[in-house]
Amino acid sequence: MNLTNRCTNRCSFCVRQMTDGLGGADNLWLEKEPSVEEVMKELERQRAYEYEELIFCGYGEPSIRLNDVLEISRRVKDKADIKIRMNTNGLADRIHGKRTAPMLEGLIDRVSVSLNEADAESYNELCLPEFGVSSFDSILAYIKDVKSFVQETTVSVVGCIPADHIERCRQIAAELGVGFKVR
Ligand code: SF4
Repeated sequence: MNLTNRCTNRCSFCVRQMTDGLGGADNLWLEKEPSVEEVMKELERQRAYEYEELIFCGYGEPSIRLNDVLEISRRVKDKADIKIRMNTNGLADRIHGKRTAPMLEGLIDRVSVSLNEADAESYNELCLPEFGVSSFDSILAYIKDVKSFVQETTVSVVGCIPADHIERCRQIAAELGVGFKVR
């Protein structure tokens, strides 16, 4: 589910800069952000309740529309026993100016956080977050917090960063007690 094209980062590797579509979708650029009602209608139309998992992801940062993400999840969970994942840049607390992880409990099953770098300076250079160099520590704090409220938390990194940075990220994930994935 692609709820928004807005994002608080400008990652240099962002797939949005290379192609308009992905994974069978020709164009993921939204003319307008879909309302909750429109998303629910589309889920019905696509018989999405038969899927194993529904995922909130890009082109954009889904947690910018966190309340809508949670409302859609609530309605989906009322209809079907289906796993829901949110792929996020992990900056929801900075975006909303409050602790957001507890809001996910019982609604989001899996969270995949794009860490993408192994330290604050490198992250800032690669992802150009609007919150600046302190973003990295905010992401780590979010990962620590969110893993208490969802069934599965994974940290992901892009494969284009140096191999030793990937290994340091793997170590960070292990120390935080969450999964790890290179994408
Ligand atoms: S956080 Fe995700 S959507 Fe935002 S710029 Fe980075 S890769 Fe693109």
